[in-house]
Amino acid sequence: MAAISELQRDKYFRWQLICACLGVAILVSTIYVVVSYRLSADLGMRLELASLEKQTLLLHAELIEADNDADERMTELMHLIHINEPDDAVFFVSIQGPNINWSLNQNIPKQDINTINKIFSTQVDNNLSNQIAKSNGIKTIGKNCYLWQIVNGDGYQVQFYHLASSLETTLDYIAKRLSITTFIVIWIAVWCALTLTFWMSKRVEGKNNALIRLATHDPLTDLPNRLYLVDMMQKALPDIEGQNPITQASLFVIDLDKFKEVNDTLGHSAGDQLLKKVALRLSSVLTPEQTLFRTGGDEFLIWAPHFTQNQAANLAATLVHVCEEAIIINQLSVNTGASIGIAHYPLHGTDTDTLIANADHAMYEAKQQHCGWVTFNEKEATDGHQRLRLRADLNDAFNQHQIKFYYQTKVNLKTGEITGVEALARWYHPDDGILSPFYFIDLIEQSGRVQEFGRYVIHSTIIQLSEWKKQGSTIPIAINLSPYNLLDPGLIDFILDLLTSYNVSPKLLEIELTESVTSLNIQNISHKLDDLKSIGIKLAIDDFGTGMSSLSYISNLNADIIKIDRAFIVDIESNDKHKAIVATIIALANVIGSSIVAEGIENEEQADLLTQMGCCYGQGYYYARPVQASTMSKMLKAFPVIKQLENDT
Ligand code: C2E
Ligand code: MG
Ligand code: MG
Repeated sequence: MAAISELQRDKYFRWQLICACLGVAILVSTIYVVVSYRLSADLGMRLELASLEKQTLLLHAELIEADNDADERMTELMHLIHINEPDDAVFFVSIQGPNINWSLNQNIPKQDINTINKIFSTQVDNNLSNQIAKSNGIKTIGKNCYLWQIVNGDGYQVQFYHLASSLETTLDYIAKRLSITTFIVIWIAVWCALTLTFWMSKRVEGKNNALIRLATHDPLTDLPNRLYLVDMMQKALPDIEGQNPITQASLFVIDLDKFKEVNDTLGHSAGDQLLKKVALRLSSVLTPEQTLFRTGGDEFLIWAPHFTQNQAANLAATLVHVCEEAIIINQLSVNTGASIGIAHYPLHGTDTDTLIANADHAMYEAKQQHCGWVTFNEKEATDGHQRLRLRADLNDAFNQHQIKFYYQTKVNLKTGEITGVEALARWYHPDDGILSPFYFIDLIEQSGRVQEFGRYVIHSTIIQLSEWKKQGSTIPIAINLSPYNLLDPGLIDFILDLLTSYNVSPKLLEIELTESVTSLNIQNISHKLDDLKSIGIKLAIDDFGTGMSSLSYISNLNADIIKIDRAFIVDIESNDKHKAIVATIIALANVIGSSIVAEGIENEEQADLLTQMGCCYGQGYYYARPVQASTMSKMLKAFPVIKQLENDT
């Protein structure tokens, strides 16, 4: 994982520090050498210039004394001045006066002399006055650097040009010393850098290791965390080039079942103790090859390389067992079970993310089934994924009116005539085709848009009623509503407004109420149902006999119709118990004055038996499957519709 390698990259810190120290030492030494050299050269040059001035003044003074033998005297003096360097000296002297025009060139190239003369012709004082005037300076011609001195006075002019020797002398003189100094500085710098970096890198390494541990381990249990797990799995699983192949492995996701209860009742420190003890227990059953991780909350993971499915099943059973054993916390015996999901490499995934997600999915299955441990099952997972996708698509379903209605007839069992139809929702999904309510009704109920959907069903039904009315069929339509729809405060006004604006009789609308899975207190909605009944809408209890509170529905709700669930009809010819239950429901309905509709009649035998038993109405594939509105329109035109239901009750 990038974050871990990022932290580990600091291993090179020591070398980086040494290089940095050396770089600084070399830079400082270079600056020191250059500055020292320049300073020494400048100083040497100034001293040379001062000496040149003295020599020139000496020549000038001698000129005045010398009178007639000035030429000879000058030659002698120049010899004396350069006595130690007769051949190496590089200079040019020019003297002019009333009785002398003398010059001496020692080793200066002719072209330099010409240039010098041209440049300094402006400096020459032609008046050769009695006042002594001096001027000097440095001039570079080509590669040569010349010092010059001109002295005027008492009728004489002395020009002295001398090749500066300070630079070379300085270089010669101090180069060795500077090199030695530089070497010593660098040597000291290296040792300082080594010592410093050793000390610093030790500290940084220590801190870095602490950081890596903090980033990759859970501080409570000291177990490696998810970051570590992902890093470990990525290293273990084959990469794109098929490196490091392991043939099989198992990943376990372990989630404690009652951790929240312990946390809530005994407090967080008790929860922490529990986690530590569970971590120890789980570790105790693992071999060094298997690694235990805590990935947050009460979730642990185990990565077991080279594990077969059988080995995984055995280990899972052991893990469930150790988690079920009581743990003493604050002198209380706590019993927290665990649910374990297992995903196998490569069967259930070949990459880290898929394996973790699938093991996680299996763990949720185990939790729901209360069965300890579950191995990942592809089919169930696909269903789960489809549900997630459909949940995300629900918005479009609402906004683009993708949910439409099929209609299934209800018939009089004796005559076979159509007495009404039931509206059954279908989702015209752009990718998955036509989906039955099984796929989406509970999604809608969980989405918080159940009341919006209820109004949509009612609106669509009233529009359909008015259309069929225009076509000459006054057939009642039953709609399915969940008890949640009845919590909609404006529901009655909404229905009344629609019935009025489409000019539809409330008697043509029937509400089938199914028992909600999350049992809602029926008394909270019974007054709403009474209001609906008071305006003429009929109420049916759907799927009667399957829910846990069917009888409480009957006693609390004044139902016009009871629909016997298909589960009792499917084998009524052969199943005596089901036959008895249906007979009881019919008797019960007769007592309380409700009509009976048998759902899911698929053959003549069932229809005949139900008729004999006193059931008046039926619905099922034997008569008609649910069809689109246009097909139902044709059916309604072809078969007579009896008015019997309207006159009932
Ligand atoms: P339900 O209200 O009991 O509807 C009857 C279901 O049984 C329908 O399934 C229908 O197609 C099916 N059925 C009818 N006769 C037979 C038969 O002879 N054999 C078999 N095997 N099945 C038969 P469907 O359309 O899949 O609807 C399932 C359930 O979805 C409905 O059961 C109802 O509870 C719910 N539902 C449908 N539409 C809506 C709706 O608009 N709103 C709400 N809240 N629930 C709806
Ligand atoms: Mg129904
Ligand atoms: Mg039903």
